[in-house]
Amino acid sequence: MDKGLRIVLVETSHPGNIGAAARAMKTMCLSRLVLVNPVEFPHADASARASGAVDVLEQAEVVRTLDEALAGCALIAGTSARQRGLGPPVLSPRECMQRLHAEAAKGQEVALLFGRERTGLTNEELARCHILVNIPSNPDYSSLNIAAAVQVLGYESMLARGAVPAAGESEEIPATAEEMEKLYEHIESAALETGFLDPANPKHLMRRVRRLFNRARPDQNEVHILRGLLSALQNPKPPRRKV
Ligand code: SAH
Repeated sequence: MDKGLRIVLVETSHPGNIGAAARAMKTMCLSRLVLVNPVEFPHADASARASGAVDVLEQAEVVRTLDEALAGCALIAGTSARQRGLGPPVLSPRECMQRLHAEAAKGQEVALLFGRERTGLTNEELARCHILVNIPSNPDYSSLNIAAAVQVLGYESMLARGAVPAAGESEEIPATAEEMEKLYEHIESAALETGFLDPANPKHLMRRVRRLFNRARPDQNEVHILRGLLSALQNPKPPRRKV
């Protein structure tokens, strides 16, 4: 959805916030930025805060009216720092980004609107939206910096696109049960050969070793390393000299 979703910033006052929003977008694989009547843009502060995301700023479209910003959009979501009574339904960030993503996946253009730093989006602007999204926050201080709001919703858009690899998942091929059994046999024989393990009094050594490796879930490469090390310890060669 990165191309199908446009991030629309309405009448942003501080150019630094535009830059920070561009940076937040790029970290979340979003690239299409539309600026409605920015107070100061382009500006050195915007470029400075964008850091490595100046390409997003350079490609940003600057338009005069919200109508121009929303041209061609089939689904429009507006952000709101407050829970509003009347008006479009208010969704959670997750639900909102899933809705936008589902629509973008059908090839439709979709937009996510962010308001002015001081006053947010006007009632007329909110009325243009099909759905609203509120980021849950401190009821006594609910207003995030605009770039922080872009970051949170950008992150949800990454999740909605399924673009996030599961945390901590290794690319390596995990060792199979057979490979693990061979490793345990190898450890046990090395432990016996070296006298570390007394066959008359094995205690729970191998059970503990198994527990350790089951926690670690080594991959094939790691098992190869351990077995190579055990073999080398069992058949020591003279050490190689450092050159
Ligand atoms: N007093 C304004 C605050 C504007 S904060 C208001 O009540 O709307 C500037 C912009 O940041 C908002 O228009 C919105 O786009 C975004 N924003 C800030 N906090 C947010 C929140 N909790 N949920 C969703 N968007 C938020």
